[in-house]
Amino acid sequence: MSAAREAAGAAGAWGAEAARRARAHPLLRERALVGGAWVEAAGGGRVEVVDPGSEEVIASVPRCGAAEVSAAVGAAEEATRGWRARLPRERARALRRWFDLLAAHREPLAELVTLEGGKPLAEARAEVDYGASFVEWYAEEARRAYGEVIPTYGHGRRVLTLREPVGVVAAITPWNFPLAMVTRKVAPALAAGCAVVLKPAEATPLTALALAALALEAGLPPGLLSVVTTDRAGADEVGGALCDDERVRKLTFTGSTAVGKRLMARCAGTVKRLSLELGGDAPLIVFEDADLELAARGVMASKFRNSGQTCVCANRLLVHADRRDELAALLAPQVRALRPGHGLDPAATQGPLISRAAAARVGDLVARSVALGATPLAGGEALPGVGPRFYAPTLLTGATPALPICGGEVFGPVAPLMTFRDDDEALRLANATRAGLAAYVFTTSERRAWRAAEALEVGMVALNDGGLSTEVAPFGGVKESGLGREGGRQGLEEFLEVKYMMVGGL
Ligand code: NAD
Repeated sequence: MSAAREAAGAAGAWGAEAARRARAHPLLRERALVGGAWVEAAGGGRVEVVDPGSEEVIASVPRCGAAEVSAAVGAAEEATRGWRARLPRERARALRRWFDLLAAHREPLAELVTLEGGKPLAEARAEVDYGASFVEWYAEEARRAYGEVIPTYGHGRRVLTLREPVGVVAAITPWNFPLAMVTRKVAPALAAGCAVVLKPAEATPLTALALAALALEAGLPPGLLSVVTTDRAGADEVGGALCDDERVRKLTFTGSTAVGKRLMARCAGTVKRLSLELGGDAPLIVFEDADLELAARGVMASKFRNSGQTCVCANRLLVHADRRDELAALLAPQVRALRPGHGLDPAATQGPLISRAAAARVGDLVARSVALGATPLAGGEALPGVGPRFYAPTLLTGATPALPICGGEVFGPVAPLMTFRDDDEALRLANATRAGLAAYVFTTSERRAWRAAEALEVGMVALNDGGLSTEVAPFGGVKESGLGREGGRQGLEEFLEVKYMMVGGL
């Protein structure tokens, strides 16, 4: 029996507890929020929300459609008029009150993230802190939407720019960070003076609804933030209605590259502003001079957080051939020591994958890669004893770019280790992907670090560290990983238009 199997507890045993906690949850809202009112869908349908750890149904939400989208957009249009006219200081204070409520509800919010998303509570708490930090940051940035005065081109004329809110924003978010992917969009949009209609992922609507309930409690005007829930089949109708509506001036989307491309094409009809945070395929490069203890810590932090279901997960580990065995020897016991289990189980370090299909997909990628020559040093198996959505944390050696496991974003707890012989080969392998979100570099040479950072075709580089997500920095990708940035002062600009004013007759 493998270490992962021995370490694991049966997650299904937590099902009754998960359902009980959901029913008693102080922030549970099982209706959509449209124009400040909690509503059922006009069509009357409902969507079950499932705890992925136990597969227990824990709640349900309305299956909204085009009617709710239209009403929410109308309310947003109305709300944005008053909101944009408020002093930036007033908008900042309202956001600050929302932040204070998020901080005061840290534990119940974390529990909701775990119940519907599956991640261990400790990770969910970290997500609440991370997600709330965007609200705090943009409460501050709300007052800094500066325009500029440009040296003039003619006597008697002055040239200046104003920064104005883009208008009504549609936001579509994924399930892997049900809280932070919402606040990372909604906070800067509201700070800029926009209103938002949010469609959360079908798997994780409860956290989004709880966030909206706290926004109302904080005194944000009704209609400023609507939450329209639906299931996967309804996503096309809701997403399509948002893309097609000419009153919506901007779409901000986080999710897969395939869906992002579809939405981008659909938004062409109304020429919307777009921010797209799409899939990644991050290389993690360990050069021959790297501090291997540090590199191993970086791999564990980057690869196995959220069971490998993050867009900035180290997807391919590239290690100098002379250091591979050493690195593998450091990593294998740490990977084996990870403990899959239900997110509510305090002993669990690894939650489930989001669905059975996701677990089966990861299993298939590993099986086909092993058949072609990769060797599992840890894991390499499903964990039916823990639950049907669990896959063992896995370390594969002998990986090559030709293997299925290195053919794109894995979105699971599998670390494939491949080797290179020199720096040029490492950088070539790292860049040999259509994605360009994040990269990690481990080296003790300043020269190598700079050279790699500048040569990597990505939006974000972490040097000697396995993490890079923070509210103070611009997060985003190049190539097919997307358009635009979230976080930092750049995150506010995504929701502002530049208006140029020429003042004559002076
Ligand atoms: P997904 O693309 O399947 O779904 C994302 C959202 O799009 C969900 O709300 C879903 O309901 C919605 N959607 C699906 N089809 C739609 C349609 N036809 N019209 C409108 N909306 C539609 O992605 P996912 O599985 O939820 O999330 C995982 C993906 O997200 C990964 O590729 C990951 O890398 C990416 N991601 C990127 C970032 C980033 O910042 N770049 C962050 C987190 C996740």
